[in-house]
Amino acid sequence: MRNIGHSYIDGEFVVPNGTERFDLHNPATGEIIGQVRLGDVADTRRAIAAAKRAFPAFSRTTKEQRIDMLRRLHTAVAARADELTRAVVLEYGGPISVRAPWTRAAAGNFLDLAEALETFEFTRQAKSAKVIMQPVGVVGIITPWNSNYSFITNKLAAAIAAGCTCVIKPSEMSAIQTQVLTECLHSAGLPPGVFNIVNGRGDVVGAELSSNPDVAKISFTGSTAVGKAILRAGAETMKRVTLELGGKSPTVILDDADLEKAIPLAVAAGFQNNGQACIAGTRILVPENRLAEVSELIVKAVKAVKVGDPNEADTQLGPLVSQRQYERVQRYIRAGLNEGATLLIGGEGHPDGLGGYFVKPTVFANVTNDMTIAREEIFGPVLALITYRTEEEAVAIANDTDYGLQAYVISSDPARAQSVAERINAGRVLVNGLFHEPQAPFGGFKQSGIGREYGAFGIEAHLETKAILDRRPAERV
Ligand code: NAD
Repeated sequence: MRNIGHSYIDGEFVVPNGTERFDLHNPATGEIIGQVRLGDVADTRRAIAAAKRAFPAFSRTTKEQRIDMLRRLHTAVAARADELTRAVVLEYGGPISVRAPWTRAAAGNFLDLAEALETFEFTRQAKSAKVIMQPVGVVGIITPWNSNYSFITNKLAAAIAAGCTCVIKPSEMSAIQTQVLTECLHSAGLPPGVFNIVNGRGDVVGAELSSNPDVAKISFTGSTAVGKAILRAGAETMKRVTLELGGKSPTVILDDADLEKAIPLAVAAGFQNNGQACIAGTRILVPENRLAEVSELIVKAVKAVKVGDPNEADTQLGPLVSQRQYERVQRYIRAGLNEGATLLIGGEGHPDGLGGYFVKPTVFANVTNDMTIAREEIFGPVLALITYRTEEEAVAIANDTDYGLQAYVISSDPARAQSVAERINAGRVLVNGLFHEPQAPFGGFKQSGIGREYGAFGIEAHLETKAILDRRPAERV
C-alpha cells in the first residue's frame, strides 16, 4: 500500500490542510494499492500565493538561466525514468513496452522546450513599434489520468520557458507517478514557488484554480465538458486558456492504400494508450468497394494484438484505468449493437482469463457517421468502420464531427495524401504513420480545444504581447 500524504508548495513537501483520502487501484486486478490525501481550497490558495510571490523574480530570469533550469529538470526526471515507468504501469495499466519510451519523451519535453527557447525572440519590431512578449503570470496546470506525467512535464516546461510560475493539479488517479515526478522536479533545485503541486479533486482544487483572480492562465488537458466549465469559471477574470480536449479522430484509408500495411497502422492508431487517447483514430474511413478485404484484415490484426499483464514486455494492450471507464466503454459497445452496427470482433465483457478493468478490443462495421459510436468519444479500444464512395465524401465524413484534434491519412500517393490532409479540419494530420514532432504545434479545431502546445507555439501561449510606441527624437514634445 502506498500512502501519499503530501502536496508540494513553495519548494517543500507539505501535509495538506484537506483531510479527504482517495483510493488508488491497480486497473489490471481492481485491487486497492494505495491512498492519496487530497488538498482543499485553502491548500490551493496557499500554492497560488507561493507562485505569485515567486513570479516577479522568476519572470525576470534570462533565457539562458531558464534553458539551464529546463536541462536540469530533464536530467532529474531521466535519472528516475524506470521508477516512473513502473509507477505508471502500476496505477494506469499502460503496457511497459509503450510506457518506457513515453517516459523518455515526458522527460524529453524539457529538452524540447529548451531547444525552442534557444531561438525564441521575446522582442520584435512592428515597423516603428517595439513589441515585447512578457510572461502572463501564474499558470494553473490541470491534467488528466491518461498520461498525467507527460502532460505535466510538457505544460510545466512551456510555462518555465516563458518565465511563468505555476500551480499544478494532477489527476487524483495518478498520485503515485505524481509523487515520483514531484521528487524528481524538486531535486532539480528551482527557486521555491516556481512550481507547486496540489493533489485534489477537480471540483475543488481545479475549480479554485479556474476562478482565483491571482491565476492569469489555465493550461488544461482533459474532457471537453470540463474544458467548458473551466472556460466559464475563468471568464469572470478573463483568464487566458490553453484547452486540449477530446477527439473523435478519423483515419482515412484512401483506395490506393496497401491494405496489408494500412490496417495494422489503423489499428495501432485506434488502440493507442489502451484506446484511452484523445488522438485515437477511432473512425476508420474505408472505400466501400474494399470493405470485405478491410474487414478480414482488421479481424486478423486485432486478433494479433497481445492483451494482458501490462508488466509483460510483449503486451500491447492493457486494461482501462477504472471501473467507471470500464462501464462507460461497455455502454458504448451496447449502443453500437442497439443502433445496428455489425460486430466484427470483441463485444461486451472481459477478455477470456482477464479481470480488473480489461475490455475486449472491439471493431464494428456498417457504422454510419450519425451513430453514437461514431459521434462520441468512447475512450477505449473500440473502432468503427465507416464506408465512403469518393474522396470528397471521405473528407466530408472526416470533417462531420464536433471535434478536430488529430487525423490520419493512409495512401500510396503522396500528393493525394497531402491534398486530403489539407482539407481535413484538425490541428494535426499524420500521413502514413504514427509519430510525433515535438517542435510542431498540437491542439484542436472546434470542440477539441483552444490554443496550441509544443515548441515555440507552447511558449507563445504563455506570453502577453505589448507594443511600445515611442516618438522619434525629432518629434519629441
Ligand atoms: P476530466 O476532464 O474528467 O479531468 C481532467 C482533469 O480536470 C482532472 O485533473 C480533473 O480532476 C480535473 N477537473 C475535473 N472537474 C474539474 C472542474 N470543474 N474544474 C477544474 N478541473 C476539473 O478528463 P479525464 O477523464 O481525466 O481524461 C479524459 C479526457 O481527457 C478525454 O476526454 C480526452 O480526450 C481528454 N484528453 C485530451 C488530450 C488532448 O491533448 N487534447 C489529451 C489527453 C486526454
